[in-house]
Amino acid sequence: MILVLRKNISEKEFDAIIKRIEELKLKPHISRGEERTIVGIVGDSRTKELEHWEELPGVEEVIRILKPFKLASREFKKENSVIEIGNGVRIGGNEVIVIAGPCSVESEEQILTAAREVKKRGAKILRGGAFKPRTSPYSFQGLKEKGLELLKLAKKEIGLPVITEALSIAQLEKVAEVADIIQIGARNMQNFALLETAGKMKKPVMLKRGMMATMEELLMSAEYVLSNGNPNVILCERGIRTFEKYTRNTLDISAIPMLKSLSHLPVVSDPSHGTGKRNLVIPVSLASVAAGADGLMVEVHPEPEKALSDGAQSLTPEMFGDLMERVRKVAKAVGREIT
Ligand code: PEP
Ligand code: MN
Repeated sequence: MILVLRKNISEKEFDAIIKRIEELKLKPHISRGEERTIVGIVGDSRTKELEHWEELPGVEEVIRILKPFKLASREFKKENSVIEIGNGVRIGGNEVIVIAGPCSVESEEQILTAAREVKKRGAKILRGGAFKPRTSPYSFQGLKEKGLELLKLAKKEIGLPVITEALSIAQLEKVAEVADIIQIGARNMQNFALLETAGKMKKPVMLKRGMMATMEELLMSAEYVLSNGNPNVILCERGIRTFEKYTRNTLDISAIPMLKSLSHLPVVSDPSHGTGKRNLVIPVSLASVAAGADGLMVEVHPEPEKALSDGAQSLTPEMFGDLMERVRKVAKAVGREIT
């Protein structure tokens, strides 16, 4: 349920509305737009429905959101959410933000070289996994805390904000100390306890679509983070599992405009995990930007053939340069920019 407040609402009226919401043990989510302030109310739907919100002074309109996700919905917020990352980087505005770096942080030299190479070619955010969710317990699990330290070093030396994954609640604080964006991976998309805890933080969260998740399920997961108080959520389409075997996953291009129409949250596309194949990353990146993605997340390794994870889908720095050049043209053609 959304209360659209009158333009000239007094402070006293506003406070009374918030007080009433809290008295009913419901949660107010305030969003101050340029034109109007709106208050989203979440909590027990029976209590919500019984109240005569229309009659509260200062309320202009009451909108009932029929979708199961509320705070994530376009009905709740008409304008696109723009998430401030730091270093002047913002995701969700007119600029398409490119996130790049290796799948895993492997060594000081590897992450510093990767950071330097991608920054030089226009990446705005550095990626690199310290805690890695691997199918096999015998595969490289990431450098863990040491990986976080190296990311911190790369951030300082090269000057790019970083994104890295937290696999568990126990890792969240540690990851948040270094990361500018906390990544919640596909395998954890419905780890509701993790989502709730990330929701109690202020740090931006990038939530990746689960490999068997519908868009509605992705948005419901985003709702967990939002309803716990963290408005800084970025959605990521990274491919879903289908019967197709030539690609690692099937990147759902249609999810990009669909999510953008259902939600005000920024949408990033990950063509690396989406395809699993280096030679498909550029064309699928172009398609993603054409379809309206607010960002791309691309795996780039100084020496992909030596990568400890996801080498087959990692680009060389030179290929990444080619990607940037081509993606800039598509961005321009669809009225976006990449600086
Ligand atoms: C990743 O980005 O490194 C990753 C593990 O992605 P996903 O959770 O989408 O598989
Ligand atoms: Mn990877």
